[in-house]
Amino acid sequence: MEVYTLRDLEQGRIKPLESVSPELRHAMRVVAHVLPFRVNRYVVEALIDWDKVPDDPIFQLVFPQPGMLSHEDFATVADLLVRDAPSGELQKQIQGIRRALNPHPAGQLALNVPHDDQGRPIAGLQHKYRETVLFFPSQGQTCHSYCTFCFRWAQFIGDKSLRMASREAHSLHEYLRTHHEVSDVLITGGDPMVMKARHLADYLEPLLAHDFDHVQTIRIGTKSLSFWPYRYLTDPDADDLLRLLERLAAAGKHVAIMAHYNHWQELETEVACRAIARLRATGALIRAQGPLIAHVNDDPSVWARLWQTQVALGIMPYYMFVERDTGARRYFEVPLARCWEIYRQAMQQVSGMGRTARGPSMSTAPGKVEIQGVAEIRGEKVFVLRFLQGRHPDWVQRPFFARYDPKATWLDQLQPAFGESRFFFEDEFEVMQQRDQ
Ligand SMILES: *Cc1c(COP(=O)(O)O)cnc(C)c1O
Repeated sequence: MEVYTLRDLEQGRIKPLESVSPELRHAMRVVAHVLPFRVNRYVVEALIDWDKVPDDPIFQLVFPQPGMLSHEDFATVADLLVRDAPSGELQKQIQGIRRALNPHPAGQLALNVPHDDQGRPIAGLQHKYRETVLFFPSQGQTCHSYCTFCFRWAQFIGDKSLRMASREAHSLHEYLRTHHEVSDVLITGGDPMVMKARHLADYLEPLLAHDFDHVQTIRIGTKSLSFWPYRYLTDPDADDLLRLLERLAAAGKHVAIMAHYNHWQELETEVACRAIARLRATGALIRAQGPLIAHVNDDPSVWARLWQTQVALGIMPYYMFVERDTGARRYFEVPLARCWEIYRQAMQQVSGMGRTARGPSMSTAPGKVEIQGVAEIRGEKVFVLRFLQGRHPDWVQRPFFARYDPKATWLDQLQPAFGESRFFFEDEFEVMQQRDQ
């Protein structure tokens, strides 16, 4: 399948783009010099409704938009491109802009890296929450297309030192063998489903040995059901991949495909539905998660239809995330108060089967914090919050309160309610950070 990158954008090789204005095409070029861009023909031709461009949600999801950079950064890059500045100068400016976009949110490089029994950090592994280990296989650190809001965008812009990846099945297995508290392994990226089935098998098949009986659930995080459903239909090793999942499920593992979806348009092509059906036939369970983002899905009826379509196709809604504090957040972020309204109004439109998505949830350094609602307590308007997942297991499911702020878009902008000076977890979190750094 043909994949388009910045060069194709620059050289006018993406045919349907001829229908958009020259100004927008220029702006896309400017932004794509800073943020990663990659899209394939399936997404361009089957998922985007070109009559609705530029407002089409999938167009917004994969094509760079002018508002993704500040006016100042945009002007800097546009100027360098227009006067054909030397590449060294261009790169230097671009690097500076990228560094200011918080490329590694929630301390994901420094905070979650586990160590082996000699005290050496284990590359390509993250262990933040007691039950779940994240594994980043090196062959799975790219995607079929890139989401414009990706929180792992930094690893797609060629800076290898920033990449979190492991080549070693061995280090994953050794770690799991000695960590019996781990019940879930989450293979992530990038997108592990860009890997060959035999590479995936090298990582996963050994987990069927008795040493790993404590590992009950194998999760695979992927956008492939949206961006490349042919992975499960016509790719040369599609059947090998499905057989692998089937073996894992038959041997008693819970195989969970953690599918990233943002809009019901991704679920409505015939190939997408066939891919879902084939995956489900392996015994794997598909769970859906994705962020709530402006320009794409900041509308309760979009979420209601997304969840309903998922349920109809046998997919279980799992998480609704808040747009993370990285990359093009300025373009996509939605105030927390609005996120909660959208969630609530969407929930009201679906049956209980569609109400299994938790959220809206912020993936912060201390944990996943859900906005449970807005309430007024003794005359003070507050956000009611709770940890769905916590760096400390004891934090989970304890309600806590922040002063209501209609503009806040992330936890670090919230203040404790009722005159408190700190949130209940902050002292403990500080100690944990000092220990890990
Ligand atoms: C979300 C997440 C998990 C999984 O959390 P669950 O609530 O069990 O789905 C694990 N590790 C990290 C770092 C995460 O962000």
